[in-house]
Amino acid sequence: MNKRIVIIGSGPAGLICALSCCQNGIEPSDILIIERDSELGGTLNQCIHSGFGKNYLEEVVTGTELASMLSDAIRQLEIEYITDSTVLFVDKQKRIRVVSPKYGYCTIKAEAIVLAMGCREKTKGALQIGGTRPAGVFSAGAVQRIVNLKGYMPGKKTVVLGSGDLAMIVARRLVLEGGSVACVCEPKEYAEGSEEHVAECLENFEIPLYYSTTVTKIFGKERIEAVEIAKVDKRGKAIKGTEQKIKCDSFVYQCGLVPENEIIKETGIRLDTRTRGAYVNQYFETNVKGIFTCGNAVRIHDLVDFIVEEAQIVGESVKKYLDNKTAKPISTVRIKNSDKILYSVPQHLDEYDEGIEDCVIYFRVNGKYDNLLITLKKDGEEIYSREKGKMSWLETGKILVTKELSEKIKGAKEIIICAQEKKNGNDTDNNS
Ligand SMILES: Cc1cc2nc3c(=O)[nH]c(=O)nc-3n(C[C@H](O)[C@H](O)[C@H](O)COP(=O)(O)OP(=O)(O)OC[C@H]3O[C@@H](n4cnc5c(N)ncnc54)[C@H](O)[C@@H]3O)c2cc1C
Repeated sequence: MNKRIVIIGSGPAGLICALSCCQNGIEPSDILIIERDSELGGTLNQCIHSGFGKNYLEEVVTGTELASMLSDAIRQLEIEYITDSTVLFVDKQKRIRVVSPKYGYCTIKAEAIVLAMGCREKTKGALQIGGTRPAGVFSAGAVQRIVNLKGYMPGKKTVVLGSGDLAMIVARRLVLEGGSVACVCEPKEYAEGSEEHVAECLENFEIPLYYSTTVTKIFGKERIEAVEIAKVDKRGKAIKGTEQKIKCDSFVYQCGLVPENEIIKETGIRLDTRTRGAYVNQYFETNVKGIFTCGNAVRIHDLVDFIVEEAQIVGESVKKYLDNKTAKPISTVRIKNSDKILYSVPQHLDEYDEGIEDCVIYFRVNGKYDNLLITLKKDGEEIYSREKGKMSWLETGKILVTKELSEKIKGAKEIIICAQEKKNGNDTDNNS
């Protein structure tokens, strides 16, 4: 089977990309969306809380509502999609192996592919907790899914480890559904998620949040009966004598998300060890021409707003690629990061005839800073600077490559994003 464009994954990234392809002049009949779940929408379907679509819709809706709006738009345009269909792998020749109830085990040859497979949760193995392995231990995302989509509770009294946004949202959900949360333990001295979520999800529901605390042991044979928690030192090591046993019948942990990119191992697509997503240019095109990627498959996003931006860029890029498949970049500029920058995306800028003007460089910092100055350097010379003020790893920073900046970047082999803390200064942020 042949299809011009195949989009793998139907979360907001995949669906918005499909809609953007059509807005840019691609025929809906040229697109196929492949989704392994039984419905379109991806992670949005399990997010029954509000907070989605601020920039895209100019109103805030629940994840489920956004999923249904996007799915309706896909159906209205009659874009083909197959659900309950899993892509097993993709190769360099842009052949996609799929198992699907509609087509069986088949190979689809595409002219362009968009990887929008989202992310998966890291497993409890990464936590190295002692004790037994009874039933009643869940990851936060799994709990969100079984509670919100299947209507089951993981237990009556839960201990939560991790204070990322997902863990806090799940803790609140358990209380709203009639359960109780004994405590949320956070090994760091501060919450991993936003301050708003600490207030809205924990404080408002009187759920205790213990900083510098971890879970050190799990008790129970068939079913979990209790956990042991303990204070940790600055290196995260449990402090002897601070242990406390807490009775519970369920334990929920959040230990991070990783982009889901296993199916591209045979494509030769280069992955970034920091983001765990593909190395991309400003068009979100990987090093294999005609294979693009967006959403959580590129880097973990907290907000759908940035996914919307990326997916729209990819829709436009796919159209450009199909119109001129042989175009080669005139030059490539690598983007490097200084020590306070956790990562940046894209990892390089490819210059074609239209130049690099108007593209955006997204970045994250690796800590919480009160007064940051962000600069771009070319051969040691500062070509851009901006007072960012307060910034933490939770926030995505943006550098817009204006006409003026694109002129300064011209001719560079590499540019470096630098972040330095200023002693005194203003809290300004005029570019994101
Ligand atoms: C708990 C939680 C709360 C959040 N709260 C907010 C919020 O309040 N506001 C906000 O803006 N954002 C929020 N987000 C972020 C946002 O929901 C996600 O970042 C977004 O859904 C990711 O979009 P995506 O399309 O990249 O991936 P996903 O939505 O995960 O979609 C990826 C899709 O790809 C499919 N797939 C994967 N592999 C394959 C394969 N091999 N074959 C076929 N299909 C495949 C998956 O089944 C999935 O449907 C939240 C996220 C979580 C987890």
